[in-house]
Amino acid sequence: MKFKDVVGQEDLKKKIIYLIQQGKMPHAVMLLGTDGSGGLPMALAMAQYIQCTNKTDVDSCGECPSCAMLSKMQHPDVHFSFPTAKLNPTKIPVSNDYIIEFREFMLANPYGSEKDWLDHLETDKQGNITALECREIIQKLQLRTFMSEYKVFIMWRPEYLGSEGNILLKFIEEPTAKTILIFVATQLEKVLLTIQSRTQLFNLSKLKLAEIQEALLQQQVEPSKALQIANLADGNYHYALQLINEQDDDMLGYLKQLLNGIYANKGLEIVAFVNQMAAENKETQKKFITYFVHLLENLVRYRQVGKAHVSMLEAEYKILDTLIAKKMTDYQVDKVTALLEECIYQIERNANAKILFHSLSLQIQQQLLFKKALA
Ligand SMILES: [Zn+2]
Repeated sequence: MKFKDVVGQEDLKKKIIYLIQQGKMPHAVMLLGTDGSGGLPMALAMAQYIQCTNKTDVDSCGECPSCAMLSKMQHPDVHFSFPTAKLNPTKIPVSNDYIIEFREFMLANPYGSEKDWLDHLETDKQGNITALECREIIQKLQLRTFMSEYKVFIMWRPEYLGSEGNILLKFIEEPTAKTILIFVATQLEKVLLTIQSRTQLFNLSKLKLAEIQEALLQQQVEPSKALQIANLADGNYHYALQLINEQDDDMLGYLKQLLNGIYANKGLEIVAFVNQMAAENKETQKKFITYFVHLLENLVRYRQVGKAHVSMLEAEYKILDTLIAKKMTDYQVDKVTALLEECIYQIERNANAKILFHSLSLQIQQQLLFKKALA
């Protein structure tokens, strides 16, 4: 993967390129970013840049033999380690057992999550990076390089290393010469402290709306859909890619229906909304709630700074204008947001959807219509 194929993260790309060019890349780094911010794509681009024999000041060439091999994740001097599950009851799993599946998965979904990966392995077993795997890593990295000056090792999700990860400590402290270890994590608090303290932290930033929007446009997503997805994705490009393939459901339509029912105090319209929402699957229900929360966040920003810093569809601006005309306060935004977040929590716990959305609608109405005096 080239840096140009990694969405956003321009500052971090510059820093990485500079350090590699100056020969100052620390030998153990931890790329840390939320789900969908692109830790693995960044690690792949970094490995490709290190190994490229014809790199420029801004990127790898994408064409030399090293780049060609890395584009298939098959470079003999770039090693991968990742969570596996015990699919064969008689064998302790190591990454090498699943490298073909891992390549296939990552080449198709470089922004994929570990849940997607375990789904790809068709297991509901817990992922793990085993002690045997740690020993194999050390052995593997003792070998001489095959074709490059540098060895690169990428561990995706060091969160899955239990105390067995301590086997690696000495190696992380004093790796073999010309070896770069890259750990790719999303939850630092779950990574062993002993590993955290031996790696240099490189933070990925949360992707900006415009960055996701631009990446979607490059994927030929239709402009208004790209904008709506970028808004919904909230910095998670992995989620944005999933939304492309989802059936177009009418989040905006649902929201209009709910708000109409609430403000006009039309019980039947609210019931119609509740029935339709209850018939949707959990993912769509959560998507609607997330959409609503995001719209409220935009409302606050829109009121403060105007259109310049909020990108939405015209129809969505109209909703914001209506809410402003109805004098929805920031206090009410906070209260309604809290109700929505509680609702997501309940959906995940399989609460009865009809009861849940009915109660949600009435509580929102309570906040918006009847508690004004308190606000
Ligand atoms: Zn190259």
